[in-house]
Amino acid sequence: MLTTDEVLEQDDHLIQSFADLNALKQQGGRTVISRAEGAYVYSHEGQKLIDGIGGLWCVNIGHGRPEMIDAITEQLQTLDFYSTFYNFTHPKAAALAQKVASLAPGHLNAVHFANSGSVANDSAIRILQHMNIRLGKPEKKMVLSRMGAYHGSTYLAMAMTTPLYADGWHAAHDIVHHLPSVHYWREGQGATEEEFLDHLIAGMRSKIDEIGPDKICAFIAEPIQGAGGVITAPPGYHKRAWEVCQEYDIKYIADEVVTAFCRLGHFFASKDVYGMVPDIITTAKGLTSGYQPLAATIVSDEIHDIISGPDGLFLHGMTYSGHPAAAAAGLKNIEIMENEGLPAQVRETGAYFEQKLRDLTDIEMVGEVRGSHCMTGIEFAKDRATKEGFPPEAQVALKITRACQKRGLIVRPLGNVAILSPTLIMDTAMIDEVADILRDGILEVEAGL
Ligand code: PLP
Repeated sequence: MLTTDEVLEQDDHLIQSFADLNALKQQGGRTVISRAEGAYVYSHEGQKLIDGIGGLWCVNIGHGRPEMIDAITEQLQTLDFYSTFYNFTHPKAAALAQKVASLAPGHLNAVHFANSGSVANDSAIRILQHMNIRLGKPEKKMVLSRMGAYHGSTYLAMAMTTPLYADGWHAAHDIVHHLPSVHYWREGQGATEEEFLDHLIAGMRSKIDEIGPDKICAFIAEPIQGAGGVITAPPGYHKRAWEVCQEYDIKYIADEVVTAFCRLGHFFASKDVYGMVPDIITTAKGLTSGYQPLAATIVSDEIHDIISGPDGLFLHGMTYSGHPAAAAAGLKNIEIMENEGLPAQVRETGAYFEQKLRDLTDIEMVGEVRGSHCMTGIEFAKDRATKEGFPPEAQVALKITRACQKRGLIVRPLGNVAILSPTLIMDTAMIDEVADILRDGILEVEAGL
């Protein structure tokens, strides 16, 4: 077996994503993960680590499930690859499309597959633009997104993401407009949460009036903004935003790349948690629990009927859309979730996890603990009363995540926030352990400030 140093020497040729590439190459900047099992991963040196970020918000059923590996292997032995282009299809893509449609709320019954959440979001916009062209509304192309959003890294998904991620880059800014942040704790400024919500909805309406509803094809929103720092909107926000969209004939895209497949205790959060049925749901990650790259754009009957009407080709798709091995992984993953009652289990353990993390607010430097169930963020503040954050050079969240990793827990730093999106198979004893490690890690850094 190669030593860690030998792996890192090879790794000098790899460009990591979303990283300070210079800092990474310095001694100690990278962790080599070599093995995984259940809720744990193992570093190359053999350190056992609780996977507090579930790979990357995705290994929902836990690592190394033999049933998954068997299902993928069996599929590869039967049909290694065929595309879903032109007039071709294959049994696993068909079966998964039907299964996903059966789990998705209401009238969401047609599925287009992709290989990443970014592409699923691009597909959603391309589908809507295609639909509007067919309806004789070629001007209806613009997209409303929100500050703090993360919708991916392709050219269009980057433009829909909060502008920080496209800073200085050329992006499709001409078709995307960002509504203000929905983060009450930071942006509420003395208003009640209800008043803040009214203000957000009024702002959404006036922005639509300003641009013109006949120019806007979609509003895209994550139920909880993940990579933006686990930001939850005020209660009732999504339903009211959806009502505004319906009133103005704007399609609502719920980006459930993270929130679907049990992370919030349901297969999809839109209806079961937020009480509304979007026109499109995009999802990825938990769809296969990360065992294979797969994403889905799930569209309503109305949209499907229009894009599959007479005349006009749907000129969109990726070679690996609905790859047989990925589709087999998706089917087995959902079967496991259903057989083991994962949604109900997460409604219990996730609520416990959320509460244990909220208990950390008794620590001075913890400003806000937010999120829901197994999607949580802890924001650190220099002064909780004024909400003043630590300067970026203090690297507080990074130091805390390192202190946690030393103690056996992987946490993701993001500015002044530590993000937790673990596997969904943790029992209460492991959740207690996670909370204890976080407390010790935070206190260690606080003591050194
Ligand atoms: N949408 C959301 C909400 C995400 O969190 C992500 C990735 O983290 C994406 C889209 C993009 O997914 P991918 O990285 O698979 O392209």
